[in-house]
Amino acid sequence: MAKGLYVHIPFCQTRCHYCNFVTTADHSPVLQKRFFDALSTEIKYARSRFGKLVFDTLYLGGGTPSSLSIPEISRLVAEVRSAFDFRRDFEFTIEFNPGDGEETKLKEFHALGVNRVSLGCQAFQDELLKRLGRRHTVEDIIKTINAVRRAKIENISFDLMLRLPGQTREDFNQSLQRCVELGASQVSLYDLEVHEKTPFGKLQQAGKLGLPGEDEHARMYEDAIKILSDAGYEHYEISNFAKPGMASRHNLIYWHNEEYLGLGPAAFSYLEGVRFQFAPGLESYLEKCEAKDWKNNIEDRLSEEEKETETFVMGLRLKEGIPKEKCPEVFKRLQGRIKTLCDEGQMKFTGNTLWLTERGKFLAEEVFGFLLEKEMAK
Ligand code: SF4
Repeated sequence: MAKGLYVHIPFCQTRCHYCNFVTTADHSPVLQKRFFDALSTEIKYARSRFGKLVFDTLYLGGGTPSSLSIPEISRLVAEVRSAFDFRRDFEFTIEFNPGDGEETKLKEFHALGVNRVSLGCQAFQDELLKRLGRRHTVEDIIKTINAVRRAKIENISFDLMLRLPGQTREDFNQSLQRCVELGASQVSLYDLEVHEKTPFGKLQQAGKLGLPGEDEHARMYEDAIKILSDAGYEHYEISNFAKPGMASRHNLIYWHNEEYLGLGPAAFSYLEGVRFQFAPGLESYLEKCEAKDWKNNIEDRLSEEEKETETFVMGLRLKEGIPKEKCPEVFKRLQGRIKTLCDEGQMKFTGNTLWLTERGKFLAEEVFGFLLEKEMAK
């Protein structure tokens, strides 16, 4: 069983118009220091609570970890490496915003062990990037990719967004083509989610957001499958495509329902059969760490039935699907609904293994909702 370590860095230079993540644009030295001191305290507590865990992956996400200074990242890496063990070939990913990629910094990151960059490209049209409130341009994306490669980090995963205001199918196809041309090792797709309290949420309430329609959205997803498969990418998870052998090992830990420790504000963990979140926001995180108040904000001990259900749902996201013998009770319990979804063409069996069809993948949220909501209502 693989194990992953996630660290949430809650700082961004500015806030994008759709962002609902736990992050702040306040970069005052006082807040930065408070955060890193709090994180040190949490790392020490996690070590004393769980022992010297051995991790297969380390993932710095956020927020914008790439905006941190070399001393800040060096301190963080030194602290997690002294508290925990990492396998010799561990995958070390850092989320990067295009434009943050000065070569000196990247070389230092590489020296610290970073071997994978997850690059928040989002789109390859300056107009769309501006509309999203992103700080970068297409030129910044290219410059950062070149700098990452010069720093000898070869594994670069690209994030792309779809269903953006004013985005056409042609725009999206062009972005996919650029990912292929620029040699992405993985392409991760994100549908825009509109949250009420964001600038996009307000525009939507005023009827001014102008999102592509459902049909256009479905065509974009089909185009992604075609363009990326033709270019040699495996569609290994609903929204993720990777060159052979380049799938994200860290994310596979989530989809295989294996264990992970999440540090930092809003991070979730799953260890010893318990899913938990220590603190929901930055302020509560700082206060709790400073007071050494280690009571979790959310804590659920999963029953055997719940664990099996999670393994089933997560496994269905993957290309290989889920074999009956992995969660026999769930297959028994849901057999009527599974049959309905197979009859509707959203799922299929190959032997004893159940998997989502392309239509099922596009409608995954509805498929999972149908399987689980109905069950809760039983
Ligand atoms: S870079 Fe990411 S985390 Fe930061 S504000 Fe933009 S969407 Fe949010």
